[in-house]
Amino acid sequence: MTATQAHSPVRHDWTLQEARDLFALPFNDLLFRAQTVHRQHFDPNEVQVSTLLSIKTGACPEDCKYCPQSGHYNTGLEKEKLLEMERVMAEAKAAKDKGASRFCMGAAWRSPAEKDMPYVLDMVRQVKSLGLETCMTLGMLREDQAQALADAGLDYYNHNLDTSEKYYNHIITTRTYQDRLDTLENVRNAGMKVCCGGIMGMGEDLDDRAGLLVQLASLPQHPESVPVNMLVKVAGTPMEDVADLDPFEFVRTIAVARIMMPESHVRLSAGRETMNEQMQALCFLAGANSIFYGEKLLTTANPEADKDRALFRKLGIRPEQREQCRTEEQEVEAIADAVEYQQTRHLFYDASRESA
Ligand code: SF4
Repeated sequence: MTATQAHSPVRHDWTLQEARDLFALPFNDLLFRAQTVHRQHFDPNEVQVSTLLSIKTGACPEDCKYCPQSGHYNTGLEKEKLLEMERVMAEAKAAKDKGASRFCMGAAWRSPAEKDMPYVLDMVRQVKSLGLETCMTLGMLREDQAQALADAGLDYYNHNLDTSEKYYNHIITTRTYQDRLDTLENVRNAGMKVCCGGIMGMGEDLDDRAGLLVQLASLPQHPESVPVNMLVKVAGTPMEDVADLDPFEFVRTIAVARIMMPESHVRLSAGRETMNEQMQALCFLAGANSIFYGEKLLTTANPEADKDRALFRKLGIRPEQREQCRTEEQEVEAIADAVEYQQTRHLFYDASRESA
């Protein structure tokens, strides 16, 4: 394997050994290769910015060992019921006014209950009617539920695999890896775009990180968005004292994800607040081209938004263009507005942490 390859085709047949070999490259060779692949498919100085709204918080029946929203652990999280439509629409309108093009909604459910589906579908339709793209994370979906969401106009669905199949039952016991794959298949078959990734630093080994990426890259169609999270250790969860992952291993994971899924947005997600600017810059160099932006997340801190803006400026990074007619100045202004908007909200959070 050379560090310089003329072209990077989209492959679905990556093997675990190939992934191991990528992880084992000298760091500089790995980053050079990832950056080379990145430049074949994306503008290297653009980063997509995402924000999400929690439409139902906490008391989740699942036992994901990293998650403060699980009802199995006492983390002191304040629970919220399903938000009223008026509130969701007000948030969506305000987000649109501030320049957002996509509105993402997350609920801490095992799967949507039948009684909630009409309401959720209406939420998709109404948010969509504002001219916004829609994204949801609601837990497992049956075929008919996925189709109903797609028919209502839902563009994206988030459902994370979290880790390798081998390590999975160390993390979650209330549903299987296959359950997750089935939901991803239902989402894809219904015609929606997929957002799917995992969490690093949960005590997994290198083969688990490699195995997760092989699994994602083996899907018939790569997820359009691949969130790569660093575990945020929350007191009260079983993961609160797990050993830290070497930050270079995290950067390597982003680089390997970029190489194996060259056309996907690789999202630097939860855990950014524990990363200094240099670490985040390395992640961008490794091929991360999406972040969650905002002062606060639902259950964990996020880097202060003005720090994000300052980092973008220092690195010469632009938010990914949402409207072709905008000038760069207008775009920077829109992002500044969006950041201010989020600073006044407490409901934005990182739904990539949802395995829902
Ligand atoms: S990650 Fe999602 S499914 Fe798992 S406990 Fe948290 S909210 Fe529930």
